Amino acid sequence: MPQKKTRRPAAKGSASARKSAGVRRAKRGQAGGSRRGTDPARVRAILKGLDEAYPDATCALKHDNAFQLLIATVLSAQCTDERVNQVTATLFPRYPNPKAFAYANPAELEKEIRPTGFFRNKTKSIMGASKKIVEEFHGEVPKTMDELLTLPGVARKTANVVLGTAFGIAAGVVVDTHVLRLSERLDLTKNTDPKKVEQDLIKVIPQDRWILFSHQLIWHGRRVCVARKPRCIECNLERLCYSKDKTN
Ligand code: SF4
Repeated sequence: MPQKKTRRPAAKGSASARKSAGVRRAKRGQAGGSRRGTDPARVRAILKGLDEAYPDATCALKHDNAFQLLIATVLSAQCTDERVNQVTATLFPRYPNPKAFAYANPAELEKEIRPTGFFRNKTKSIMGASKKIVEEFHGEVPKTMDELLTLPGVARKTANVVLGTAFGIAAGVVVDTHVLRLSERLDLTKNTDPKKVEQDLIKVIPQDRWILFSHQLIWHGRRVCVARKPRCIECNLERLCYSKDKTN
């Protein structure tokens, strides 16, 4: 009859004992849903730091209404907000409403938005979204995530920008390149896919902070926690941050 194997406990202080303890800690953390980075007190301290540094953070894209913000956000993909603002300064007076964009001459529109890059795809998105707004939403930008996501070229990031900034509706968190980078550096997520990062942020950031938090993280990412060589010496979140990207 085969003998049942018994596992001897690892000797105290040995490498295997340390490993077992680490695994137990990790399992406890997973089971309880708690992690060092998203500890509620730490998240509160991050939000407080962002409030102190950027009390008035807001969207940098110039717009007079929800439709203009939608167009500007589509144009901002892979482009700076400054460049988008330069382009829209002449674009919006020439195309004053959704109808003007919906039935524009595509070649002319491509020329107008060329400085923002990816102008062919952006023209298709802008004309497609405008047409749908005119023909299915009575010329008004819809106010729900589900409806916005039916517009060509509109994904969650654009929809969250429009809902949050134009309508004050906190349907989610805007996850752009800055929010993605800073969420990782601040250990608020272990994910890299924007959709998963947004779901992680939604779980740890109070809903009444979603809109402002996105703007604040974007401002911090542009001014201090820049992609290359973050300016940690100027960062008021420095004592809370243990990112491997930290500089001296
Ligand atoms: S300490 Fe450095 S890496 Fe961390 S959030 Fe601040 S600027 Fe970014």
